[in-house]
Amino acid sequence: MKLDAKNPGYDGTGEPEDVLRWALTEFSPDIALSASFEHTVLIDMMTRIRPDIRVFSIDTGRLPEETFRCAEEAARRFKIRIEWFFPERTGVERLVREQGVYSFRESLEARRLCCRIRKVEPMERALRGLRAWITGLRQDEAESRRDLRQIEIDEAHGGIVKINPLAYWTQKQVSEYTQAHKLPYNRLFDKGYRSIGCACCTRAIEPGDDPRAGRWWWESPEHKECGLHI
Ligand code: SF4
Repeated sequence: MKLDAKNPGYDGTGEPEDVLRWALTEFSPDIALSASFEHTVLIDMMTRIRPDIRVFSIDTGRLPEETFRCAEEAARRFKIRIEWFFPERTGVERLVREQGVYSFRESLEARRLCCRIRKVEPMERALRGLRAWITGLRQDEAESRRDLRQIEIDEAHGGIVKINPLAYWTQKQVSEYTQAHKLPYNRLFDKGYRSIGCACCTRAIEPGDDPRAGRWWWESPEHKECGLHI
């Protein structure tokens, strides 16, 4: 069966566990979770379904310490091996030598170039050969994600299937599940962070702020995406 935008292969929406069970049955072993280690809800759900899941993450070279701690706790707790992907060395060296270590603060174009080199290119390599990938994206994370669906066709990455099991969950549900199962999570959440990326481009927010207000806070709200999810 050929999957496309009209026929994503899953008839409707479901609980995250139901979506994951369908996805892992349909696409394994050509499916992987892209983990940013804000929390480990999806890893917990997936390893309950099958232990041999694939989990990858992008080390941009500028991640906060707390993200690595969460990743290490997850690797131990769930007995998984995380596939780390790194930016191409020559691209990072050229960027930093020619434009400096904080070039991303100078303009939207400069910021997008840094994200392209440190995130988007390694992500493209991580997705190569997969038929489907799983993300932790949710509608409540940002205005730009209001139309997110649990199953999408990812035209930006060769038309593979993109699965967002938590699309309709809220931050509160993620926190409650994390507490109920005593899961590893990113400790920056205890310090007022609500969306976590590179350390130099992320900060804590005030109660009531948009959840992604702490990302690239010097830019206007409509630009709060790094190019991974377009
Ligand atoms: S989030 Fe900031 S440091 Fe990280 S890749 Fe994007 S611009 Fe560069």
